[in-house]
Amino acid sequence: MDEATRQKQELYRTARTSGKYDGIWQSVGKCVFCDLNDNYVFYEENGVVLTIALFAYIDGHCMIIPRRHVRSVKELTPVEWETMRKMMYIAKKMIREIYGIKGMQIIQKDGAEAQSTVEHLHFHCIPFDAPDLAQWNYRPLANTPLQNTDLYRQKQAEITKLAQRFARKYQDD
Ligand SMILES: [Zn+2]
Repeated sequence: MDEATRQKQELYRTARTSGKYDGIWQSVGKCVFCDLNDNYVFYEENGVVLTIALFAYIDGHCMIIPRRHVRSVKELTPVEWETMRKMMYIAKKMIREIYGIKGMQIIQKDGAEAQSTVEHLHFHCIPFDAPDLAQWNYRPLANTPLQNTDLYRQKQAEITKLAQRFARKYQDD
């Protein structure tokens, strides 16, 4: 490994904890997932890859990414979706095998507001060794569980419409 490569690998290794990650993303202009570096891909099937996360939260952190630039799960073909489901299974088994960690968090940040990167669908598979890894900052709740259930139930007609619309738009192959 040459010195430049060694330095870059070291940058990736420490970016999340050194604070350099934010600056790096702001300087990326293209879709990094369309332009995936195959050096980090360790499994591929049906146009979907399992690849190491360059800016990992923890050792073993990998990602499931369709090669196609799709923004949402609704755009996946049934074959792609089924392949991703299989890869979630493989990732969990391998995280246990290689890192000795039995838990895994699957995170998919949906929508531009939720992501720091591009709108190219990707699922993070993150070994879960302790809760501090992904600390949730809970919000004070305005509603009880029954009140929140009621808010969704009041929209039953819309939910049914959405279900029909999904079937019409995304399930006819
Ligand atoms: Zn893309």
